[in-house]
Amino acid sequence: MSSASVVSFEEARHIVEQHARRVGPGEVESVDLLAASGRVLAEPILADRDFPPFPRATRDGYAVRAADLAQVPVRLELVGEIRAGDWPEPGTCSVGRGKAVSIMTGAPLPAGADAVVMVEYTAATANAVEIQRGVKSGENFVPRGAEARQGQMLIDRGTRLDHAAIALAASAGASTLPVFRKPRVAVLSTGDEVVEIGAKPGPAQIRNSNTYSLAAQIEYVGAESVRLPIAPDEPVRLRALIEQGLACDLLLLTGGVSMGKYDLVEQVLTDLKAAFYFTGAKIQPGKPIVFGSCGWSCGAGIPARVLAANSQSVRAEMPAPHRKYFFGLPGNPVSTMVTFKLFAQPMIAALAGMKPQPLIFLQAKLKAEIRTKTGLKRFLPAVLSGEFENAEVELAAWQGSGDIAALARANCFLVIPPDREQISAGEWVSLLMG
Ligand code: AMP
Ligand code: MG
Repeated sequence: MSSASVVSFEEARHIVEQHARRVGPGEVESVDLLAASGRVLAEPILADRDFPPFPRATRDGYAVRAADLAQVPVRLELVGEIRAGDWPEPGTCSVGRGKAVSIMTGAPLPAGADAVVMVEYTAATANAVEIQRGVKSGENFVPRGAEARQGQMLIDRGTRLDHAAIALAASAGASTLPVFRKPRVAVLSTGDEVVEIGAKPGPAQIRNSNTYSLAAQIEYVGAESVRLPIAPDEPVRLRALIEQGLACDLLLLTGGVSMGKYDLVEQVLTDLKAAFYFTGAKIQPGKPIVFGSCGWSCGAGIPARVLAANSQSVRAEMPAPHRKYFFGLPGNPVSTMVTFKLFAQPMIAALAGMKPQPLIFLQAKLKAEIRTKTGLKRFLPAVLSGEFENAEVELAAWQGSGDIAALARANCFLVIPPDREQISAGEWVSLLMG
């Protein structure tokens, strides 16, 4: 492959995002509210009534007219009590001048009142209450419809439902929700040296960990993993397994994309008339990453070529529904995990029906100086520690992209720009979490 198709990190990410905008989710299914947690909403959820449906007290205390509290302390006549769930008959419990109503958190504010004074600032007798502090009009209650008006959208289509969204759906009375089918993502690990975890590895063999890290990452982002058998570094069997994988919504290959004599993945995909959008990114780990697509029935229709990263060449191709995307991820386990997160995840999200999400790096202070080489954007395993506002980060000791143990000790990636040779302790650095 030509070096012209090795692109910067930002370009590679942009190319994936551009293609991700061209794919869509599968069918819609209806699932129980709780089963919808982690799924992607297929139709917007609307407010079935005003939120809140009545002016809702946010404190235990006394519903009052703020103007009556201009001078404190003041003694008000107690004319009733409203508990959460009570709905006093109109006219039976209103707050006139010099009057107060005892009210509980979550109860509807009575007519006439325009504030709630907290019980902590009061002293009550049988039919009067002394108020020690003033309140502003509007304090300690939420007006009817302030959170959402009836018919207003509460949760948009394309939202991955977390616990807050589930709570909101519950509050709108949705006992079942329409969600998109999970995309099926095939995982194909390659390599003659790789053996299944149940087998006893020979002296030079290594166990297949990539299939499992990828399957775990796929499930974590809300898709379904389809684990294929390990492909040998042999073109016929490799091709058959690739074709099997292309029957899923997305294919992730690992290994066989470097420059070695037996790195056959790109060759076999070229034979299948794949289009390649990039065949490397200027990152470490993960430089040999490959991104491309195949025609509907692979082997037909699409000329083998490396496409320049511009929208014209993207548009000139077959429409996205007729193509299957694939990523050839590098075989080194840390590279596999990093490149999944950086590149495969946004494509899976799009196939799951999610709205595009920007990749956001967080910032923390560097604990110990870093020296590195320029030229590649680096995503190095790192440990974020400290407490509360005093987070600090340092690189995890590691033996390179094959060191899974280092990654298991790390809890984030420290992002080093390609032009930095040295970063001093105390500088702010970017982190990729997870
Ligand atoms: P490759 O990208 O095929 O050149 O492989 C790079 C390194 O990753 C080699 O040391 C491989 O043994 C290792 N590797 C490849 N595939 C796997 C896998 N499925 N699980 C664990 N390590 C792997
Ligand atoms: Mg290999």
